[in-house]
Amino acid sequence: MRYCRFERAGEQHFGLVETTAGRLTITRMAEIPPSGGAIPDLSRGPDCRIPVEDVTLVAPVAPSKIVCVGRNYREHASELGHAVPREPLIFLKPPSALLNPGASIVRPRMSSRVDYEGELGVVIGRQCGHILPDEDVRPYILGYTCVNDVTARDLQDKDGQWTRAKGFDSFCPAGPMVTDELDPWAGIEVRTRVNGETCQQGNTRDFIFPLDVVIRHIAEVMTLVPGDLIATGTPKGVGPLRAGDLVEVAIDKIGILVNPVSDG
Ligand code: MG
Repeated sequence: MRYCRFERAGEQHFGLVETTAGRLTITRMAEIPPSGGAIPDLSRGPDCRIPVEDVTLVAPVAPSKIVCVGRNYREHASELGHAVPREPLIFLKPPSALLNPGASIVRPRMSSRVDYEGELGVVIGRQCGHILPDEDVRPYILGYTCVNDVTARDLQDKDGQWTRAKGFDSFCPAGPMVTDELDPWAGIEVRTRVNGETCQQGNTRDFIFPLDVVIRHIAEVMTLVPGDLIATGTPKGVGPLRAGDLVEVAIDKIGILVNPVSDG
């Protein structure tokens, strides 16, 4: 199952995405429920046939919260001079930081160093609180998407905690689609390119904490609800963005999340 969220004639919808005659096509659609987060059952939506390139894609999630994992790849922890954490290190980004595919990441004036962090995003499909140690976490996962955990690196160092550095408007591009046709335990390749040049190339096989450990850990702290987004950590190779750059996060079967960069 692969779905997107899109805007057409001034209205937002969810759409089921399938390949028909070699083209990515939205084949069923549903109105966005007023409550926002939960994804409607697209198998019961009305039939349609809209080429994906004819719509404007928006972020495919409307989460109540965005939970991120810091330092979940050994080589990234060491590139920033940090020890490998002993348990998942989690922090929040506000939902107001979400950014649509194609929209501009805005470098705030109060920062002089804004970095990209390409990551695999996990979308929650079922409410979960405490998860038993031997319980499978997969039934709680709706699917996967690309996330860019944009970070004001200078403010992260200065503040000692990360709310400001990670929380600016536009600092959480997500999309372009969500799919459940991936297996992070088996390995998913995450690539980040800036102006066409590959800067990050990691694989979820190399997570310090696999996804079941991460989700169980988060759910011990806070109830996850449908539509919530988890950013699973970035591989090595983070670096700065400048106005005029074009940054891409690419994951097979999801697509390429493309965002230009501008100055605020
Ligand atoms: Mg990150």
